[in-house]
Amino acid sequence: MQLEPGATIGIIGGGQLGRMMAMAAAHMGFLTHIYTPDTNSPAEQVAAHCTVAAYDDATALEQFAKTVDVITYEFENVPHESLAVLENTTQVRPSAQILRLTRNRITEKQAVNDCGFKTAPYKPVTSYESLVDAVKELGCPSILKTAELGYDGKGQARIEKDTDLQATWNSLKTDEAVLEGFVQFSKEVSVIVARNNDGDIACYPPVHNIHENHILKYTHVPASLDAKMTAEAEHIAHTLAERLGLVGLLAVELFVAESGELLVNELAPRPHNSGHWSMDACATSQFEQAIRAICNWQLGDTTPLCPAEMVNLIGDDVFDWKAYAARADAHVHLYNKGQQRPGRKMGHVNILKPVKSS
Ligand code: AMP
Repeated sequence: MQLEPGATIGIIGGGQLGRMMAMAAAHMGFLTHIYTPDTNSPAEQVAAHCTVAAYDDATALEQFAKTVDVITYEFENVPHESLAVLENTTQVRPSAQILRLTRNRITEKQAVNDCGFKTAPYKPVTSYESLVDAVKELGCPSILKTAELGYDGKGQARIEKDTDLQATWNSLKTDEAVLEGFVQFSKEVSVIVARNNDGDIACYPPVHNIHENHILKYTHVPASLDAKMTAEAEHIAHTLAERLGLVGLLAVELFVAESGELLVNELAPRPHNSGHWSMDACATSQFEQAIRAICNWQLGDTTPLCPAEMVNLIGDDVFDWKAYAARADAHVHLYNKGQQRPGRKMGHVNILKPVKSS
């Protein structure tokens, strides 16, 4: 079944990803209804309807779910009970099951390994004592991460030989974490894959991601991997989409290990910052593709139109918008979040590069 234009898409979360999904949906003739705890959120500003309520307000969630034809999300940390309320009322795409699986780093890695793909070596950690055992097994350096709720380097600690393990464990304030062996990588890349309800699959090419202070700063398109590794990265994303029964978008973050192996770092069942380039350098943006997939439309073309670079405007970078807007090769996207703060994603710029003649 296809969802026809005129239908209403519910989006959980009011940030920039919700905003850009809502704009793509409007462009395709859909209405959107945002659910967010924040007033005047970036997504609310461009949507037809908005419910402002807490993520654990079962009554508001049920009411919201009743007014929409399908539910998707940009925010992954909806409480488990709230997810149950949503999925009992209206179809959630990607499924609540995929969301539950991928937002926990341990079940996420198990799922990746079950599909036959590699991750960093890891051990679940539930106490100081199990951290000591895990460090003995995986060695140093290693990285301790909370199993859930971590993002942009938050909820993580690097473990070195002289690290005070008790203090590090206490600082994470969790009872479920994972210790990962440190991956010596040459590059971080990602692949975004879409799958619709008919089972059609389309992959964007791997892109190269560069982080500053644990936050994505630049994405280079394409990733400049050799043909074999490009095919392998796309195979991983394709297989995960199929095996997880994805309907929607899945971002697959990968390490290119110095050994030449591809290791899956993280999965996100939603549009991803590393896919923003597609808004200007591809026939189909990732946001349009997400809407196509959840509405069971035919998927759009994912071939880049030209090489491109995405630059995130983080904190005070937002003041550079005028200089970028004056450039013929740059497309500026601003989220109108109000006050800039260090580390806050305020917008991004897509810079289009000349097509190399063959
Ligand atoms: P994550 O929140 O898991 O995406 O981690 C944030 C960043 O920390 C990644 O983009 C990497 O640059 C780095 N990182 C995370 N896990 C590892 C690892 N096991 N080995 C080396 N670097 C890592």
